[in-house]
Amino acid sequence: MSPQFLTCRLCQYQSPIDITSAISADISNLQINYKSSALNIFNNGHTIGVNYDSGSTLILDGEAYELIQFHFHHPSEHRVNGKSYPMELHLVHKSERGSLAVVGIFLQTGKENQTLQAIWQMMPPHGNTETKISDVTINVQDFIPQSQQFYRYYGSLTTPPCSENLNWIVFQEPVEMSTAQIQQFAQLFPMNPSTCEKIKPTFFIANRR
Ligand SMILES: [Zn+2]
Repeated sequence: MSPQFLTCRLCQYQSPIDITSAISADISNLQINYKSSALNIFNNGHTIGVNYDSGSTLILDGEAYELIQFHFHHPSEHRVNGKSYPMELHLVHKSERGSLAVVGIFLQTGKENQTLQAIWQMMPPHGNTETKISDVTINVQDFIPQSQQFYRYYGSLTTPPCSENLNWIVFQEPVEMSTAQIQQFAQLFPMNPSTCEKIKPTFFIANRR
């Protein structure tokens, strides 16, 4: 699959998306099996993200999706009944047949987030930078909220070639990060709720190792 197909499927909605009528789903539909990864951190000029080592999967409705990468938005890309959050984390997964599943996790102001801090300490200040930091491992499992409730919705573009499915899973419970951590990201990216049209076609998989 061509990388730009991934991009156009992630960009099919106007942002932010207000969740008002999504299905509230139970975790029993979702199995998460995340392993730790080296910190393959990048700054693509639009966001900070991590290309994830292979072997971490999410099973949704019986289909396996592999975690490819995660990245951040400031402020949140989703709203819930009009309420937005300071930041949002997106975990991007792809199945063998090319469907995407993106897990959204809201980040709200609170105590310092230790998992995030390991990433933030290595945050590349300049765009088009990717660094593999082998002696730092992270596990996105540490970002998953305690509560097992999430919203989910589907999307698909009617315009060829972007006709495949995009599954969105947005956890209802936010996780905390400190004001200083939010500010550190905001200094680099004051406003990146919707980077879709600016994302280079290679963004999602080309840098993967
Ligand atoms: Zn995103």
